[in-house]
Amino acid sequence: MLSFSDARQLVVSQTRAHFRPRLAISQPINDALGHVLAQDVRTDREYPPFHRSTRDGYAVRAGEVTARATLRCEGEIKAGDTVTQSLSPGTCVQIMTGAAVPPGADAVVMIEFTHRDGHKVTFDRPAQPGQNIVAQGSEAGAGEVVLVPGLRLGFAELAIAAQVGAAALQCHKKPRVAVLSTGDEVVAVNETPGPFHIRNSNSVSLSAQIRLAGGEPVLLGNALDRVDDLSAKIETGLREEVLVLSGGVSMGKYDLVESVLKGLGAEFFFDSVAIRPGKPAVFGRCRHTLVFGLPGNPVSTMVTFQLFVVPALDILSGSAPHPLPLLEATLAEPVKEKSGLTHFLPARVDWPDGTPRAHALRWQGSGDIAALAQTNCFLVIPADRQDIAAGERVSVLPRFDVL
Ligand code: AMP
Ligand code: MG
Repeated sequence: MLSFSDARQLVVSQTRAHFRPRLAISQPINDALGHVLAQDVRTDREYPPFHRSTRDGYAVRAGEVTARATLRCEGEIKAGDTVTQSLSPGTCVQIMTGAAVPPGADAVVMIEFTHRDGHKVTFDRPAQPGQNIVAQGSEAGAGEVVLVPGLRLGFAELAIAAQVGAAALQCHKKPRVAVLSTGDEVVAVNETPGPFHIRNSNSVSLSAQIRLAGGEPVLLGNALDRVDDLSAKIETGLREEVLVLSGGVSMGKYDLVESVLKGLGAEFFFDSVAIRPGKPAVFGRCRHTLVFGLPGNPVSTMVTFQLFVVPALDILSGSAPHPLPLLEATLAEPVKEKSGLTHFLPARVDWPDGTPRAHALRWQGSGDIAALAQTNCFLVIPADRQDIAAGERVSVLPRFDVL
């Protein structure tokens, strides 16, 4: 059976082989969060545009400031002031953080290391040339590329775009991802469930995961475990670039997703992975749509989305696929698992003494959404491990929305 890393590799290679990110659209900067950039962003001028003081203090000629030196203060410069006049020899000027250092000055002495008496300023210590000044152009030259195509726009990327005046950005359109849950037992969130029904939490969690991964969910509701209903709703889903199904991929008599997809012309790249939860996960292509059939138990659905759907959405949205961000932690309490499959157990990392410590959470199996809502990560137990003692180093997969 396929390991989860080989399965991810297949997702990456098949997505790359058959799909291209969607064309670029111009996106106002305040609506561009999470989009992937489709253009270079260049500076409009040098940064900083002038020699900038990084402290409140006095602009000086460093050579004139030996310990206990006294200089006459000639005025002040605050952030935003126009600065043209040179600093006269034998003088200093009071300067604020973010203000332009006047020509002639080559250091700023922090106000904390000075004493002032009227116009006279005495310095406690010698000044070094360049201190507390960011030189003009040292962060970026004029016309320099600061953002490249393929970057996903987060707060820092948007800030540099704002700094250089890129008020609108060419971004790839977000991939549209159809979401279809399956199961005769499933009712909509706003319906009253019968005694043996469950509410459709998977469509809600999948929609959230799709948004967080840079896609645009298209909610198709729920299909009954019947060939006619499933076929009709899958047909609707095949209008989009990606179709994510939940449920109906196990070995039960009413698990019809794979056979219905096959009847509609699907080819499958895998239909099981050596993981728990999530073993029956299916990945394939049907006509012009990538199809993921995720097992219906909510923990399985969420884990397999993070493992397998996220890299496909990365590529379709124009970015390189992220490597899986596995972190190392110390196991807090011993864990026992059957070997043979890689386990992804609901877990929480905390930092009691500054270093990460992982706790596996008590849970009632892969339907336990209440346990899942306590997690910030999944504890990854390798297929060849059975008993892991407290204090051992373990890998955790952070949930991509909370860590
Ligand atoms: P399945 O993969 O179809 O065998 O579903 C396994 C279990 O997952 C079902 O018995 C339900 O308890 C649960 N389940 C299936 N679909 C959903 C859904 N849309 N929302 C929440 N739980 C679900
Ligand atoms: Mg089912």
